[in-house]
Amino acid sequence: MNRHIAIDGPAGSGKSTIAKIVAARRGLIYVDTGAMYRAMAIHFLRLGLSADDEEGITKACESADVTIDYVDGQQQVILCGENVTPYLRKEETGKMASASSVYAAVRTKMTILQQKLAAEKTVVMDGRDIGTVVLPDAFLKVYMTASADVRAKRRFDELTAKGETPDFETLKAEIIERDYRDSHREIAPLKQADDAFLLDTSDMGIDMVAGYVLGLYDERNTHFSDGE
Ligand code: C5P
Repeated sequence: MNRHIAIDGPAGSGKSTIAKIVAARRGLIYVDTGAMYRAMAIHFLRLGLSADDEEGITKACESADVTIDYVDGQQQVILCGENVTPYLRKEETGKMASASSVYAAVRTKMTILQQKLAAEKTVVMDGRDIGTVVLPDAFLKVYMTASADVRAKRRFDELTAKGETPDFETLKAEIIERDYRDSHREIAPLKQADDAFLLDTSDMGIDMVAGYVLGLYDERNTHFSDGE
């Protein structure tokens, strides 16, 4: 039986923060699938493709070689031999990732790569479709969410800490727009798997959420190592 943990949820729900903590505490490999879609987005942007050019993006998938590496336990995303990790969090990359991830060619390529990683190591994988499509048999599935206000506030604080001067309402509108696109696309939309634990983190701190997920994981491990 696999011991993978699948964590899905909308942007800003805290998935990656929690996934990293859980992976570190239980010696598992953290896989940030959003980063892979972002690397694909960089490839499309560099080729000068527009987000609505499905044909061009589909063709560009053939030349996009995305791989994952780990340096000091931190995931690095390699695009055609170049480490593009420093560029993944740019706003335009996120927008292109969200827009291009609706296409079948992009999703198929990423799903195959993610399943390959999970076949080699026990992972904590976060994304939008991990519990539903990528790892439907994951040992533990968690669906994390939080109100749009809370998620916009988290993003606002993150950017402010970096010295930027974001506009709260603009950030909130972008989050709502991305949620809509992610959950209304035809292929692998963002949704809670039937067997996922729902966790609304709006009023929870990081330690509390991490403790809850670790508790669920340990409980399942105990249960299944008892031979049940
Ligand atoms: O999680 P993150 O914001 O880095 O993801 C960037 C975009 O990649 C998301 O808005 C979503 O459209 C897409 N994505 C996806 N499936 C995943 C992970 C991310 O479609 N498993």
